[in-house]
Amino acid sequence: MFMLVVKAGGAVGTDLAAICTDIASLVQSGERIILVHGGSTEADALGEQLGHPPRFLMSVSGVRSRYTDPATLDVLTMAMAGRIQPLLIKYLLRAGVMAVGMIGIDGALIQAQRKSAIKIQENDHIQIVHDDLTGHITEINTHLLHLLLNGGYVPVVAPPAVDVTIGLVNVDADRAAAAIAIAMGAEKLLLLSNVPGVLHDPSDPTSLIEEVSVRDLPQCLAYAQGRMKLKVIAAQEALAGRVRQVVIGDSRLPHPVYQALKGKGTVLKPALPLETVSPFQLVGDF
Ligand code: ADP
Repeated sequence: MFMLVVKAGGAVGTDLAAICTDIASLVQSGERIILVHGGSTEADALGEQLGHPPRFLMSVSGVRSRYTDPATLDVLTMAMAGRIQPLLIKYLLRAGVMAVGMIGIDGALIQAQRKSAIKIQENDHIQIVHDDLTGHITEINTHLLHLLLNGGYVPVVAPPAVDVTIGLVNVDADRAAAAIAIAMGAEKLLLLSNVPGVLHDPSDPTSLIEEVSVRDLPQCLAYAQGRMKLKVIAAQEALAGRVRQVVIGDSRLPHPVYQALKGKGTVLKPALPLETVSPFQLVGDF
């Protein structure tokens, strides 16, 4: 029996039903699985429908993130808890397992501290943004996750997180999955997206990087652009927090979870001997 964290992306082509079918069959054979999901695509569409289209910020380190004001938090919460979780829970139920959907504020599952300022790059100058409601993850309520797993339920988890002093704050779902995998002592973290894995050339799906050790991560990070950068950062955090393997795999394949477990995708492993770095301090402020 192992502990596995699966992060399902929401990018076009992702087969959420196939991910849930695989998870259900692994759970039925006794494995403990936590499903984490994002929902950028759904949140963008809902924001457009509600007259609050998304806006993005580019950090000085080249990572694009969602500008999060109170209305954006509403949209994110509605997209995650109101649209994506019911869908995932339905697929899991249909495949024979019961699931409980939660965003980070439920039972203070994902606690975070709001970033007081973010340095962004706009055209050729640097600006400081003070009113963005995003945070650094500080703690995971593992007790709640164990309660659910012990009761036979699959936890289905998504951002936003909670800053106990101010309420909801946005966090990246891949990094939340990494924090959960670390806190729960998971053996493996699967980050499933609509690409074969990390590609040398994002426009060439045959240019897959098959294996990366911690030492090669800076180079891997250089190939990753846009949102893929956050997945590689999440993988780096997970490995530093003693997760033994991270696979960035393809959510469009038949049996996407089994395929990633078999190593299809980009497999990221710690260098030996296992390095001990605090997972929350490793990569700085993205
Ligand atoms: P999800 O919602 O599934 O988590 P994201 O859209 O957040 O997915 O991130 C995956 C995207 O990252 C891919 O669809 C791809 O366009 C982009 N990307 C950028 N650089 C790379 C790279 N080097 N290899 C693979 N994908 C990349």
